[in-house]
Amino acid sequence: MKKIAILGSTGSIGTQTLEIAREQKDIEVVALCAGRNAALLEAQIREFSPKAAALWEEADARDLKNRVRDLEVKILWGMEGLLEIARMEGYEILVTAIVGMLGIRPTIAAIEAGKTIALANKETLVTAGHLIMPLAAGKQVPILPVDSEHSAIFQSLNGERENKIQRILLTASGGPFRGKTRQELLQVQVEDALKHPNWSMGKKITVDSATMVNKGLEVMEAVWLFDVTPEQVQVVVHPQSVIHSMVEYEDGGIIAQLGTPDMRLPIQYALYYPQRRPLSGKRLDFYELSAITFERPDMETFAGLALAYRAIREGGNIPTAYNAANEKAVALFLQRKISFLDIPELIQGSMEKVRYKKLPTLEEILETEQEVYQWIESRW
Ligand code: NDP
Repeated sequence: MKKIAILGSTGSIGTQTLEIAREQKDIEVVALCAGRNAALLEAQIREFSPKAAALWEEADARDLKNRVRDLEVKILWGMEGLLEIARMEGYEILVTAIVGMLGIRPTIAAIEAGKTIALANKETLVTAGHLIMPLAAGKQVPILPVDSEHSAIFQSLNGERENKIQRILLTASGGPFRGKTRQELLQVQVEDALKHPNWSMGKKITVDSATMVNKGLEVMEAVWLFDVTPEQVQVVVHPQSVIHSMVEYEDGGIIAQLGTPDMRLPIQYALYYPQRRPLSGKRLDFYELSAITFERPDMETFAGLALAYRAIREGGNIPTAYNAANEKAVALFLQRKISFLDIPELIQGSMEKVRYKKLPTLEEILETEQEVYQWIESRW
């Protein structure tokens, strides 16, 4: 039996992880955690019988505890709850599927406890990669990517560990606004940004895909995961999302991973690595593919991508400023308080405003987050 815990079990990645557990039948779900969706968490507890589960608010957790009093499950809450689950004995793999920088402390705690990390929560690596990667190496804890692009890169590196990576070709669908001009983007609404052409995902990452900030975060994630420079990561717009990313080696050979857009594949690959398991679902039919095309990203219109390259080159706490500003800006956009193009503007303003720290500690990362939040809040 594989024993796993999931942070963010009620979300898009979390529920798909549970689908795999349901289908494979040799995964024991030891702990679950969600934000506010108590009804779904309760249903998951009843189906998977975890030893522990957590919600963010104490009142919600107490209410849930009452509702599941017929079961033997420990109910936790808040950051302490997330940390307790991260450190819990009796499981091997932590799936980090919560959104945002909230994931940093539990991820660090889980690595310290020797857990393998199946990492979906890219914001954690973007902001604290300089702490997480050496810690994981020191503890010999694998960090297995769940993001489809990074999983594709990881799969393209199989058997090639001794060979130098020349370039990573990180593919991007281009999102719902591919080909649009800045002028056209002035008018876009929340509903437009939430219509992703190929992938069905949580709201925050869907907006991030529309701004191409998601690709920017992925560039930074790739730099940390695969120990390459930002210059070695080239974004290639590929609207059909069939090639999930590629690695070019020094001899010019390029290895790619292809498939239908289905997040269950990278999730399952991370859970069973290096083993491949059968997976239900649609297969890629090359006779049906009319074309696979490629474009250069428009970094002027989608300034969030250009800013990500700038953030990772400047390093220190600048990626944190980038990420924190984006988290706040996306929340404001979803509340219809700011426009779509305000998102990259707030990111740039925050990167320029924040006090620079070269090698930020965890506390300084969290201080930077607060500094950025306060700066943005002071403007609204
Ligand atoms: P969702 O918004 O669908 O899910 C987020 C999950 O986090 C939910 O379970 C939510 O609980 C939980 N959560 C939110 N706030 C808290 C909190 N304060 N305490 C505990 N749990 C909380 O997000 P996604 O699944 O789309 O994304 C998760 C991560 O994976 C992100 O970092 C994203 O960038 C990354 N990712 C996602 C992909 C996708 O296809 N969706 C692809 C690649 C990466 P609740 O439902 O109760 O609010």
